[in-house]
Order: sequence, then C-alpha cells, then structure tokens
Amino acid sequence: MPFDPIELSKRIEGIVVRGVLRKYYRVARGGRWYGGIATADCVGCNLRCIFCWSGVSRENPEKVGKFYTPDYIYSKLKQLAKRRGYRQLRISGNEPTIGRLHLLKLLDLVEADGEFKFILETNGLLIGYDKSYARDLSKYKCLHVRVSIKGCTPQEFSMLTGAIPEAFKLQLDALKNLLDYGVSVHPAVMLSFSSKESKMWLIEKLSEIDRVLVEEFEEEYVFEYPHVVERLRKAGLTPKISFKPTNIPEDLI
Ligand code: SF4
Repeated sequence: MPFDPIELSKRIEGIVVRGVLRKYYRVARGGRWYGGIATADCVGCNLRCIFCWSGVSRENPEKVGKFYTPDYIYSKLKQLAKRRGYRQLRISGNEPTIGRLHLLKLLDLVEADGEFKFILETNGLLIGYDKSYARDLSKYKCLHVRVSIKGCTPQEFSMLTGAIPEAFKLQLDALKNLLDYGVSVHPAVMLSFSSKESKMWLIEKLSEIDRVLVEEFEEEYVFEYPHVVERLRKAGLTPKISFKPTNIPEDLI
C-alpha cells in the first residue's frame, strides 16, 4: 500500500530528532564524490527507494545510531576535511532535511566559518511541502542543494519509492521553491528505470519551472552494491542501466 511520505517524515522525526539533536550512525567518513568530501551519515528517511543502499538505519531507525549536536557533527566534519584537504561537507546515508533545526544550526556553523561548501543532498519532499524551508535555506551562501528526483513520472516515483504518486510533485515544488528564494540548486534524476518518453516528460516539466534546471540536469543510476541487488531482486525490478561499484564512470562521481 503506497504511503504518504509527509506522514512518514513526522513519524521518523519522532524517532531520530530530539530538539536540536539528530541521530547519526557514522561520523565522519571521507570520499571521492564531488572531488573529495567529508560526510556524516544520518539515520532515518521518509522514502523507501528500492535502489537505496541504506540498510538498517532506514528500516529500523530506533535500533541504530546516536544523537549528536550540530556542533559535534561540524567539528568532526571539519577535522576530517582539514586532514584530507577537502573543501566540501555533506550529510548522507538517509534524508538530512528531517530535523530542520539541527540542519539549520549546522549550516550556521559552516556559514560562520566560511571555509567550506555544504552540499545538501535531499529528496526535496520537505522543501516542496513547506516553502518556508527554502526561505530558511536561502540565508546560506555556503550551500548548494542537490534535489535527487526518484524516477521521471509520478508512477515511476511511486514504483521506486513506495510512496503515493501525488508526492512526486513535491520534488518539483522543492526545485521551484529553492529557485524562488535564490538558493543554488540542481536536479539529479534516477534514470535507471525510466523510458526515453518519461525522461522527455520530466524535462518538459523542469523547463516549465526554469530552463536552468534542464541545463544542470544530472543523471543518476543504480550502483549494484550487494544489498541493493538483493532489494531489486525482491522487488522484481531490473534496471535498464546500472553500474558495478568498481566500475562507476568518472562523470557520475
Ligand atoms: S531518499 Fe535516499 S536515503 Fe531515502 S530511501 Fe531513497 S535513496 Fe534511500
């Protein structure tokens, strides 16, 4: 039965957020994405994507991780970034927009320091649902938002995420809300399961919002981590295009 991801957000927030504290299961790791980035992995998401590499931290958020302050997370990210010479920071693992106060406090710290860029990787649902989230994010010059769109149509979105098809629009609304508030943003689209026609449909929708979203359209594909392959097998879905983790093309990194 498809679920309402906004309702799920509220439920998950009740588990992974305590005031300004947010639950994380890993702080912090380095990585080659974006040419080098320090990453903290949070717990809890409001979607159930079949291609997701997140495991127990998504399925059983009450069972894993610890609560951390924004100061602690920032200090760990900064320490690692300085050691490795990175210029960029992010939260990954699950959905970082759950726990708005925590995220905004963390961004306050990044902004005040002025040393790093923060890449907010999000499915965009909460920013699409509440335009004031985009307004709050517009304060930060250090911020770039990557809205990761799940499939190209409401039907693909629902098939890939388990959420109601109506929620697909929230991702597009997020892009619009962020552009309206002058936030640096681009769409990344999971295309592994999409037809040419559905991709063209999405491109048309993006161009109705702003041509710049078409120009900055990033393609995303499934990476065949073992537990992702298992999830796909259980769902009975085969991606049209996917990549082995050991053979990811340079332009997707
Ligand atoms: S939005 Fe991201 S973290 Fe959440 S289920 Fe989908 S792929 Fe996983």
